Amino acid sequence: MTASIGRVVVLLGAPGAGKGTQAQILSERLGLAHVATGDLFRAAVRDETPLGLTAKGYMDRGELVPDAVTIEMLLERLAKPDAAAGILLDGFPRNTAQAEVLDKALADKGGRVDIAPYIEVPEADLVARLGGRWICRAGGHPYHEQTKRPLKAGVCDVDGSELYQRTDDQPATVQARLRQQLGALDEVVAYYRGHGVLQTVDGRRGIEQVTADLLAALAPLTGSKG
Ligand SMILES: [Zn+2]
Repeated sequence: MTASIGRVVVLLGAPGAGKGTQAQILSERLGLAHVATGDLFRAAVRDETPLGLTAKGYMDRGELVPDAVTIEMLLERLAKPDAAAGILLDGFPRNTAQAEVLDKALADKGGRVDIAPYIEVPEADLVARLGGRWICRAGGHPYHEQTKRPLKAGVCDVDGSELYQRTDDQPATVQARLRQQLGALDEVVAYYRGHGVLQTVDGRRGIEQVTADLLAALAPLTGSKG
């Protein structure tokens, strides 16, 4: 309980911005523990830790796990050996209330959010990325309008069956769902900007370029030369 808190990086980005991919790359390069709250819940439930059992109780009842429980899990995670250099948070906080609770909990332990890199992608690009998915009727083989087009439009390369879009992948559905999530994200972005820790990176480019920009943004934190 006396161990000091390492670096805390909050990686921000909309669904489809490539946040998960970048979180993995950055955590490896920087020696930070990659902490996605979904994984955190699953691990705590699997290991039947006291907090895991508490969280499971909420989930079993179909309720949201309270922020206080999530924060306690995060603090436990921060205390583990592989997090000595710090953690990279992926998927938390999701709203300003959670951001405030996180700040307070970290401050109580003598820590803080050191930097919040934001992978910025315009809404229209996000809709194109998230909504461009097609799958084949026969085998569920996946295609994408931007990144993996079939050789012949509307037909699976593997088995020749018809390609279709699930309702979830249709642009109107994608846009409606995205709008809700972007509202909360915008607030979190504004929160960290107000606290002087936001670093915005243009997420429209390739994965490697975005990684390079993120590493440059994080260089002051690590003392490395990007
Ligand atoms: Zn197929």
